[in-house]
Amino acid sequence: MARLAQTAGLTDIQEEILATVRTFVDKEIIPHAQTLEHGDTYPADIVDGMKEMGLFGLTIPEEFGGLGESLLTYALVVEQIARGWMSVSGVINTHFIVAHMLKQHGTPEQKQKYLPRMAAGEVRGSFSMSEPELGSDVAAIRTRAVKGSEGYTINGQKMWLTNGGTSNLTAVLVKTDEGAEKPHQNLTTFLVEKPEGYGEVLPGLTIPGKIDKMGYKGVDTTEMVFDGFEIAADQVLGGVTGQGFRHMMDGVEVGRVNVAARACGIAIRAFELAIEYSQQRRTFGKAIAEHQAIAFKLAEMATKVEAAHLMMVNAARLKDSGQRNDVEAGMAKLIASEYCAEVTQESFRIHGGYGYSKEYEIERLMREAPFLLIGEGTSEIQKTIISRGLLRDYQSRG
Ligand SMILES: Cc1cc2nc3c(=O)[nH]c(=O)nc-3n(C[C@H](O)[C@H](O)[C@H](O)COP(=O)(O)OP(=O)(O)OC[C@H]3O[C@@H](n4cnc5c(N)ncnc54)[C@H](O)[C@@H]3O)c2cc1C
Repeated sequence: MARLAQTAGLTDIQEEILATVRTFVDKEIIPHAQTLEHGDTYPADIVDGMKEMGLFGLTIPEEFGGLGESLLTYALVVEQIARGWMSVSGVINTHFIVAHMLKQHGTPEQKQKYLPRMAAGEVRGSFSMSEPELGSDVAAIRTRAVKGSEGYTINGQKMWLTNGGTSNLTAVLVKTDEGAEKPHQNLTTFLVEKPEGYGEVLPGLTIPGKIDKMGYKGVDTTEMVFDGFEIAADQVLGGVTGQGFRHMMDGVEVGRVNVAARACGIAIRAFELAIEYSQQRRTFGKAIAEHQAIAFKLAEMATKVEAAHLMMVNAARLKDSGQRNDVEAGMAKLIASEYCAEVTQESFRIHGGYGYSKEYEIERLMREAPFLLIGEGTSEIQKTIISRGLLRDYQSRG
């Protein structure tokens, strides 16, 4: 299916990477996704395959052993992977965000310490802002780090940590006592190194276990509890406290392009399944695709897939060119996730009763799509970001 979601102006290297990933997705992910998802099984073999392809180092600069590719390349890879199974894109997404934060804001020592091992997939990143009582309202974070003579002591509870059990480096946003007037200026990102696994993984640091989710299975999402956890001062990202909010917002900005890319991938797959099924299934003497009501659904679905893809690509290219892309990333995330939910729902309807059966892939996509409306900021938060940006740029002169 070559027509939809094409991207003009890619380099030969980008084309080559995408062709390799597409083949990997068709051969190694799609055939296994249903079984792994229904068993809530971590895709260990797929992750090994991604390590071999160098995907964990895709955007890490070559000087640190990565491939030094752009956000656009990364987003197009993620689109392909999510077309196969969204959970696999979840494994690399938090890693990619932490690598981006280190690349942009880490001290030279921190970059040297982590980026080469991250590129090899030995160090695997996760990031944590959310807490039980907050997600959208990041500045209200309660988990606190207090400075002592040796370093910092952290107390508090984190929530919704994707790859919490399977990562070994977590970028954690906590409150520090900067005495700044604005709450977001009192936040600091710590680089918490920990072993993989569950339970009390280090003195004062517990990963309680996997949260049982509606979809997005296979990949673990956990809490993270700090109870007198001691951490050295040189684990502050960038070496300066009070900068954590800025670091994390930079991380989620690229994360939003990534979520948009995932939404595109799921929508493409939902469309592929629908157009195939609608030519096989017959009612009233003809294929259902020949009923205009179904054909028009396909037309609308494809148009949404195309629009979302173009906006996602635009947001990635803006960031790659060094320009601010908060509004465009918000728009791409908003439209791609909302369209993904709509396209998936239409594909489900086209499948009739079979769409409700766990044997059919669309059943899984129906449970994956809603997460994209929430992760990296809900649709309401995207609208807040977009409208603020527009009011800033179109300020009334009256
Ligand atoms: C599977 C999964 C994985 C996740 N992984 C991570 C992760 O790896 N790291 C991490 O830090 N977080 C993660 N999250 C958390 C996610 O980012 C938050 O769930 C999300 O930001 C929403 O926050 P909340 O759940 O606290 O909802 P709330 O902030 O409580 O919002 C509830 C509702 O109120 C609306 N709302 C809130 N404020 C406003 C406002 N000002 N105006 C209008 N409407 C508003 C929201 O849009 C939403 O509809 C994950 C969540 C899930 C479900």
